[in-house]
Amino acid sequence: MNINALKTIYPFLDVSSIGTSVLGRPLRVIKFGTGTKEVLYCGSTHANEWITTPLLMRFLENISKSYVNNLNIFGVNARELFNNVSLYIVPMVNPDGVDLVTGFFSENSWAYTNAKRIADNFPDIPFPNGWKANIEGIDLNLQFPAGWDQAKEIKYAQGFTKPAPRDFVGYGPLTAPESVALYNFTLRHNFSLMITYHTQGRVIYYQYQDQTPPNSKENCWRIC
Ligand SMILES: [Zn+2]
Repeated sequence: MNINALKTIYPFLDVSSIGTSVLGRPLRVIKFGTGTKEVLYCGSTHANEWITTPLLMRFLENISKSYVNNLNIFGVNARELFNNVSLYIVPMVNPDGVDLVTGFFSENSWAYTNAKRIADNFPDIPFPNGWKANIEGIDLNLQFPAGWDQAKEIKYAQGFTKPAPRDFVGYGPLTAPESVALYNFTLRHNFSLMITYHTQGRVIYYQYQDQTPPNSKENCWRIC
């Protein structure tokens, strides 16, 4: 179900935008709940991991349905959740990249030809199926200031020194509008928990260097 349909059926959902993509697409955020505890879930930071978007949309639909019917979701009452938590969901951080991978752009569009030109420098990466980056060839997940220099060192050593279908950290941190939007959004809030959905198969990453919060693994298993 798309965002407009969800909002029509569940008018208590609050829909707004945290910014825009390179191609001017709004980066939608949907808020469920009015509580003081703030939580953020994100999907499709990586273009070819777009299945995380329908996953989050389905979750939103389920939790909204539970709210209307005063039911539990994963053992917790949905109305209680609504009152205690503000759950923000950004289902698609990288809409331009997802449009490329899912075949939305015609082959003579700027978006497609530009991406193809970038991908031609990396013939080992299938096109467009191996595309993870934003439409300008920047990996949005590697754009954040936290650990950027280290990521740059690792990825440059692997040959990702210019725009690429994946793994190019950018010429500096926070140059891609999608990453900037997410970064600014997190600064405006006080999130107790942030989950960013990725998928490479049956694996869940919960660690971040030596700064992993103590209950990350348990939270991860509980939610995922
Ligand atoms: Zn990913």
